[in-house]
Amino acid sequence: MTPIPSNDDVDSQHQSSIADTRRESQEFPLRFIGCCGAYCRTCGVLKEGVCKGCKLGYGNGERDIAKAKCAMKVCCFKDRHLETCADCAEYSECERIQTFHSHEGYKYKKYKQSIEFIRKNGYPAFLQASENWKGPYGKLERLLPP
Ligand code: SF4
Ligand code: SF4
Repeated sequence: MTPIPSNDDVDSQHQSSIADTRRESQEFPLRFIGCCGAYCRTCGVLKEGVCKGCKLGYGNGERDIAKAKCAMKVCCFKDRHLETCADCAEYSECERIQTFHSHEGYKYKKYKQSIEFIRKNGYPAFLQASENWKGPYGKLERLLPP
């Protein structure tokens, strides 16, 4: 019979998965930016282990990209081998991403802002500006050009 894990075991597995996430975010920082601009590294749902993140786990075989359902992820990460839609030459005309970013709701505007910030300022500036965010989006204005 499989032993039932104790609360201490679960806690220690959780701590070790947080440590893995931290290590991975240092080694592959761009993997933590969702194709649409949602920032997985600072998202509480990823930290809690409820969500696997947009692009994590495909490189080491934990997940199969052939099973990805999000049309943006399939187009951007699977088919075009891009990190985010910010890298795409068709971004401005792409109905898929523009429709997603136009959805009702504050977060969609913020994801769009992240993608447009990356297009203007590059990934290093984005990683720096988002360092202390507490969720999948946050303030970016301070590094935008005057
Ligand atoms: S909506 Fe799609 S592209 Fe955006 S984070 Fe989720 S899976 Fe990734
Ligand atoms: S902007 Fe549109 S076409 Fe370009 S990678 Fe994203 S979803 Fe695909």
